[in-house]
Amino acid sequence: MLSPNDILRKYWGFESFRSKQLEVIQTVLEGKDVLTLMPTGGGKSLCFQIPALMQEGICIVISPLIALMKDQVSALQSKNIKALAINSGMNYSEIDIALDNCIYGNYKFLYLSPERLQNEMVQKRIEKMNVNLIAVDEAHCISEWGYDFRPSYLKIAELRSIIDAPIIALTATATKDVVGDIQEKLCFKDGIVQKKSFIREKLSYVVLHQEDKDSKLIRILNKVKGSAIIYCKTRKETKRIYSLLQEHGISANFYHGGLDISERDSKQKQWQNNHVRVMVTTNAFGMGIDKPDVRVVIHTHLPNSLEAYFQEAGRAGRDNKMSYAILLSNNLDTFELKKHIEEHYPKIENIRNVYQQMANHFGLAIGSGKGEEFIFHIQEFCQKYNLNRLQTFNILKLLEKEEFIKLSDAIHQPTRLHIKVDHNELYQFQIANSQYDLLLKTILRSYQGVFDSFTKIQESIIGKRAQIDTQIVKQHLKKLHELNLIEYIPQNSNPKLYFIKERLDAGLLPISEKKLANRKAIEEIKATSVINYVHNQHECRSRVLLNYFDEPNSARCGICDVCLERNKLSVRDNEFDEIAKSIQKEIFNTPMTTDEIILKIVDFREDKMIHVLQFLCDNGQIEMTKDQKLIWKH
Ligand code: ADP
Ligand code: MG
Repeated sequence: MLSPNDILRKYWGFESFRSKQLEVIQTVLEGKDVLTLMPTGGGKSLCFQIPALMQEGICIVISPLIALMKDQVSALQSKNIKALAINSGMNYSEIDIALDNCIYGNYKFLYLSPERLQNEMVQKRIEKMNVNLIAVDEAHCISEWGYDFRPSYLKIAELRSIIDAPIIALTATATKDVVGDIQEKLCFKDGIVQKKSFIREKLSYVVLHQEDKDSKLIRILNKVKGSAIIYCKTRKETKRIYSLLQEHGISANFYHGGLDISERDSKQKQWQNNHVRVMVTTNAFGMGIDKPDVRVVIHTHLPNSLEAYFQEAGRAGRDNKMSYAILLSNNLDTFELKKHIEEHYPKIENIRNVYQQMANHFGLAIGSGKGEEFIFHIQEFCQKYNLNRLQTFNILKLLEKEEFIKLSDAIHQPTRLHIKVDHNELYQFQIANSQYDLLLKTILRSYQGVFDSFTKIQESIIGKRAQIDTQIVKQHLKKLHELNLIEYIPQNSNPKLYFIKERLDAGLLPISEKKLANRKAIEEIKATSVINYVHNQHECRSRVLLNYFDEPNSARCGICDVCLERNKLSVRDNEFDEIAKSIQKEIFNTPMTTDEIILKIVDFREDKMIHVLQFLCDNGQIEMTKDQKLIWKH
């Protein structure tokens, strides 16, 4: 049997494991449940992929986003590992064949969304599979305290009653609440948690309070050379800042979820290959992006949570060279963040209204629509029913969180083809219908496996090889589909809307005000952590973040803005702390003048104490009373 290191070398060509990877792999191989906490980019995928490859059977991977599944599946396929994903772009018979392949076809990985897992057909087929491991990726989605709660994640544990395989859960969110929740909701037996430190030694966290963010932005980009990401709050803002950079001769692209797939792809490629220096984007950009040499990530607004901030900022400096995560903040930001939360929680009657219009839009009667999927362009929809776009978007997101519907971004689905009849029957057909003979021969020659499963094809390539016009190829394929000889699914890249539950009477939509209020409260707590992070001027930023991710007592980073300010004092770190502590003790409840303080504390040099006092005053930790005395601020 190959060892984990052999597999790592054989398939990935890497020489050694990163910290904690091997420990996790060994725990999985012992058949134990394990929760793996690593920052984004830490290398979580290998932690389940390698043990799955070392054992007989198939690994079921549950992942919340189609884009993530697609990336991982194609990465595995490129290493000649048999992997497939079931996604919302597939029709019934495609799913049917895919599941069959997982039972009989030696597949090693099956990627599924948690919603799909609830499907009865899927469950019945999983029962027949020889499952060696269940991997729950982005496992924070199981917790209301995670930043992307998905109710159907709660049902994953039900898998335990149909198959007996250990679970590995993986996430980059390591707050205590989430960690506890994950283990509980997945019914972990041993409670094993393997955590890799979230420390980023060469990343300097900086917060700049700046009314004129634009000019600061330009100054930063002129100073810090190299690849950059700028995160903006809105799609409109990405365009505005993009134009600003253009005016200053800085090479940039803008990016957001509303752009066409091919446009997004090409912009991403240009940036990835350093043909364009700066990506100006909403938070739609970044998932699955693995560019090592990003030198600076700048936020022009406050993110919704420190989890999101850490992840976005952490895209800088994957190569472990010095980089910067800069947050530009001004007085308006806090207000806007709070407003943003309000917008996320529309009034119930507005929610019901949008739901009703949606039912009208698709012509769905009450009780129908379950499991059906529709092409859905939000802009068109809002125009037709005269709805506010942002509010409608937020309502749809909410309906999605409540799992009435599921929206999928436009993802590109190539054309797929499957021959439904056997060789013999097809041959008979070719003889009887010679006009299709060349086309079918070309397909059989070009694509192996079209009899067994859906295969990606390109009509233009078939056309070229057979010397038939592409349009004719398409027409013929359509015809063969109608004749029930083949199944032909032409490519598409439309955004879709999927009804998870049947259409209900809008007035009876079970949405609980209490639940919404609860969610909102959680969002508010998260926002408060961000606001505190921004306003903090005393504690090393890296320490604040690590503390948030339940890694207390880490060392000062020495490179964030707070540390750098402090370094200027030329007082050693621990000495600074000791002096500050002594001062705190003296003036915690009793105001004193500077002279009194210096006379009272005798353990330190006077000039150093003055430095520290100055620093604490400048940063608002000490206040001056009316009679010119100093007091510690509570
Ligand atoms: P995560 O899921 O934790 O965000 P990934 O599993 O996507 O991270 O891995 C991030 C990147 O690190 C990938 O490009 C992966 O190939 C690379 N990587 C993972 N483990 C190793 C290793 N041991 N040696 C070198 N590169 C690795
Ligand atoms: Mg991952």
